[in-house]
Amino acid sequence: MVLKEILSKAQHTGNLSKEELVFLLTRTADEASAILALANSVRREYVGQAVYLRGLVEFSNICTGNCTYCGLRRENGNVHRYRMPEAEIIETAVKIAENGIGTVVLQSGEDPYFTADRMVSIIKNIKKHTGGAVTLSIGERPFDDYKAMREAGADRFLLRHETANPNLYTRLHPGKSLKERVRCLADLRTLGYQVGTGCMVGLPGQTAEDLADDLLFIRSIDADMVGIGPFIPSPDTPLGNVPGGSVDAALRMVALARIVTRDAHIPATTAVGSIDESGREKALMAGANIVMPNYTPLKYRVDYKIYPNKQCINEDPEIYLENRIESIGRRIGKGPGHSLKGAFRKTNT
Ligand code: SAH
Repeated sequence: MVLKEILSKAQHTGNLSKEELVFLLTRTADEASAILALANSVRREYVGQAVYLRGLVEFSNICTGNCTYCGLRRENGNVHRYRMPEAEIIETAVKIAENGIGTVVLQSGEDPYFTADRMVSIIKNIKKHTGGAVTLSIGERPFDDYKAMREAGADRFLLRHETANPNLYTRLHPGKSLKERVRCLADLRTLGYQVGTGCMVGLPGQTAEDLADDLLFIRSIDADMVGIGPFIPSPDTPLGNVPGGSVDAALRMVALARIVTRDAHIPATTAVGSIDESGREKALMAGANIVMPNYTPLKYRVDYKIYPNKQCINEDPEIYLENRIESIGRRIGKGPGHSLKGAFRKTNT
């Protein structure tokens, strides 16, 4: 295979084969710069110069899950657990809207206290008071829960598939299966959510073939949004002492996700920014077009430790953005920044 030929194909179509993706994933760092540059030009062509902001509220760190990489896993006794009261969640959402941000992202552990009924109330209130888009990132639920929350007005749902290798998936998620995760994603699609998925890069035992399968999976479900970040070892977890993913490997996956999806919304993730001071800018130059400033009140934010040294623990979201985004020649997108995919294009503003 020849790099130049594959890149020229990638410029015209996202339809790369698994072999071609593995080839791109195994090039040297020098050669990879051409892949990142191409992704940046595909991004410019398909999604333009606007960087959309999503205001993040991490409203509960209580989790029944036991994912071996996550600092919030239920067996980690060294976490001070919290739940934000409903009124404070809504207040935070209103603050996000007042700052001109058109999307509120509600993220949490898999916390049974937040039943469908409670989520419905929160979603309705946020829709009423902000008029903006609401994105949920609250893990696996039964179809009827997803349905009730969608009917309450939730627009989007983020549920990373984490890894498309079913054996690796089972090793990382005791008692869970990739099949069930994919069932959730299919339900969300059926219900008319804008669906986000994605994976971690540099997981123990993860191969280039696995990463190619991640990209093929993302493409196969026509993901509206794709979150990709490096795996970061988290203390007090079973994977606390294994090596993490590199920023280069994560950036290359962001670039390839841009190339294969063309117009998905792809965030410059906090994880990329956490292992590299300018990681988010690098991601925005390698295909990403979304930033998620953290609006979780500081008193809670310090305890939402999925992984260590999480960037933005002390960051003032308003100051970060304009400067950093404009410094790389981009501008902040206005409005909700809905999916650019065909099914949602009509409803875009
Ligand atoms: N409970 C929700 C939200 C999970 S947190 C859910 O199940 O979807 C959001 C994302 O953080 C996860 O999907 C995972 O990809 C990422 N994450 C968790 N632990 C991580 C770690 N140690 N390093 C990097 N990313 C991690």
